[in-house]
Amino acid sequence: MSNNNNNERPKKSPSLPTGRQVGDLGVTPPSVGWEVSNLLRPNIANLKPYSSARDEFSGSASVFLDANENPYDTGYNRYPDPYQQEVKKRIAEIKGVQPNQIFLGNGSDEPIDLVYRAFAVPTVDNVVIMEPSYGMYTVAADINDIEIRKVLLNDEYQIEASKLLEATDEHTKLIFLCSPNNPTSNSLDRDEMVKVITGFNGIVIVDEAYIDFAPGTTLLPDLDKYPNLIVLQTFSKAWGLAGIRLGMAFASPEIVAVLSRIKYPYNINALTQQRAMQSLENVEQKDTWVKTIITERAKLTEELKQFPFVQKIYPSNANFLLVKMDGAREKFEYLMDSGVIVRDRSKVALCEGSLRITVGSPEENTSLIEILSELS
Ligand SMILES: *Cc1c(COP(=O)(O)O)cnc(C)c1O
Repeated sequence: MSNNNNNERPKKSPSLPTGRQVGDLGVTPPSVGWEVSNLLRPNIANLKPYSSARDEFSGSASVFLDANENPYDTGYNRYPDPYQQEVKKRIAEIKGVQPNQIFLGNGSDEPIDLVYRAFAVPTVDNVVIMEPSYGMYTVAADINDIEIRKVLLNDEYQIEASKLLEATDEHTKLIFLCSPNNPTSNSLDRDEMVKVITGFNGIVIVDEAYIDFAPGTTLLPDLDKYPNLIVLQTFSKAWGLAGIRLGMAFASPEIVAVLSRIKYPYNINALTQQRAMQSLENVEQKDTWVKTIITERAKLTEELKQFPFVQKIYPSNANFLLVKMDGAREKFEYLMDSGVIVRDRSKVALCEGSLRITVGSPEENTSLIEILSELS
């Protein structure tokens, strides 16, 4: 820890209305009295975060003898900016939000884990998730020892807000939504998502990992309206940067401050920050890829439809297709033996008999179709 002399810790969580426990909120946001601080785990409300050498100093200097770094320039001998201010400034411009509404994580996985650690008390609190959806919400709940309450999608792969809300109780701190959803590939109905957000007094996380492939459906423009909303996006899909591990969480400055307090101090390394800046200066490249992939998605859909064993291709707002077919497991194995790997989702609830197929390059998609042709 730093040797600053601010050793007092707050003895109690901040400004709880009298007679209420931490986490016990009587009101739904955005009502007066709804405060993020009331929802925090007590240990997080009381946390005095690590203070890094660079936290102590802001301004300009030419001699840095504060962080025990090696003085010889390797390009990476200095610690990276713990708050990634340059990257956030650029993302803010592109996304139309303020820099203090952005949290950056080591992939989306980091904010998914951090929301549990910030808000949900192990063995006491619970999370409501939609089924089927992305596996990490469940894994992170299990790691944090949080009860999972699953609510099945309807037969159009849509949520029903009333069902999700009915599954909550006074210990439900989080609801995860995913739109477009993995593995079903469709966007969720906006009005139903808004009903969940406004009808729940905990935190609602809307995972928009595939949002670039579903133009016009992001909840980001409404961020200011919903103080309990966290929108997740990522550099792993449309931006073509899965390898650098960079995820974005957009939320109120209060929520962003909480996540920033509990993250690893230097969670985004210097190489990642630099590589992200490079792509952020060339948004057109990302947009071109997205256009091509959307075109290829339509083409691949038409081609797959021709196969007699294909029963159904679900309408996709993402960069993959969920395809229901006869003998899905055999098709999966045949493709694998031919060097083409897709995802077998045939054991997943409501996805029986379905494979999840990423839309690849035109050449990759042609290989897929050629190999499947050998089967019919
Ligand atoms: C791929 C994906 C992500 C991205 O995760 P990262 O950790 O950012 O790579 C997030 N959510 C969903 C639903 C995904 O399918």
